[in-house]
Amino acid sequence: MTEAYTDTRVTSGRHSGEPVMQLSEVTKVYPGATPVVALNKATFTIHRGELVAIVGPSGSGKSTLLQVMGSLDRPSSGTVRIVGQNVADMPDRALAVMRATRIGFVFQQFFLAQHATALENVADGLLYSGVRHKDRMKAAARALERVGLGHRIDHRPTQLSGGERQRVAIARALAGNPAIVLADEPTGNLDSVNGAAIFKLIKELNTEGATIVVITHDRGLATQLPRRIEVLDGRIVSDISEPDGLASSEKGLS
Ligand code: ADP
Ligand code: MG
Repeated sequence: MTEAYTDTRVTSGRHSGEPVMQLSEVTKVYPGATPVVALNKATFTIHRGELVAIVGPSGSGKSTLLQVMGSLDRPSSGTVRIVGQNVADMPDRALAVMRATRIGFVFQQFFLAQHATALENVADGLLYSGVRHKDRMKAAARALERVGLGHRIDHRPTQLSGGERQRVAIARALAGNPAIVLADEPTGNLDSVNGAAIFKLIKELNTEGATIVVITHDRGLATQLPRRIEVLDGRIVSDISEPDGLASSEKGLS
C-alpha cells in the first residue's frame, strides 16, 4: 500500500505532505500489430520535498512513466494529477504552460543548445515563465551558482565536460522553481565519478527543498535515495521509504 509509505514520509518531516504528483491506475498501451502495455495500473503519490528513485531494468516502462508524469504523453487510462490538477481535464495549451512552469526535466542526453552559453541555455528554459529578459538572466546565473557552475556561465556545451553539461541541464530544470523535477537516467551518459557527483548534487538540491524524481536502471544509485519505486513489466512492484527518512548509504548500510 502506497498510502502507508506516504504516512511514514509525512511523520519523517522531510516533506511538507502536499501532493505534487498523483498517479492512479495509470495504464499506457502503445498501439500496433502487437500492442505493448508499457504501464499497467501504476498508482503512487509524490509529495512536496520528496526525493524518489524510480528503478527498473531496461524496457520496464520507466521512460513511459516519466512521459506520463511530465504530461508529455497522456495515459491510455487512469488519472494523473499534477499539483492537484487532473491532466485529462486540461486542454493541450494549458498543459503546455503547466509543463513549462511547474515541471523541470533532465534527460540522459542533456539536450543543450550547442551554440548557446550555459547562461543562455538556462535562461531559455524560462522563456515561457513570463519573466523579463533581465530577470531571466539573473535567475539563470543564480541557478548555475547553485549547481556549482558560477565560473562557467559563458562556456558553451562543447567547452564543458559531460558532468558539467548535466549540471547546466539541472540548473535549467530548477531555475523556474518548478513544483517537481523529473530526471530520466541523469547519469546514464556519465562515468561513475561524474555520475556520483551528480547524485550528490541532486541530494543537496533536495535538502534545499526541491522535489525530485530520478529514474534509473542502476540499483546501486537508487539505494542512495530515501524512497524507491520499483517498476517491472509496467507494474509498480514495490514502493519503499526509509522509515527515518535516511537512505541506507547515509546510515552506512550500503
Ligand atoms: P524503460 O525506460 O524502462 O527502458 P520504456 O518506457 O522506454 O522503458 O519502454 C517500455 C516498453 O514500451 C518497452 O517494451 C518499449 O519497447 C515499449 N515502447 C516504448 N516506447 C514505445 C513506442 N513509442 N511505441 C511502441 N512501444 C514503445
Ligand atoms: Mg528509459
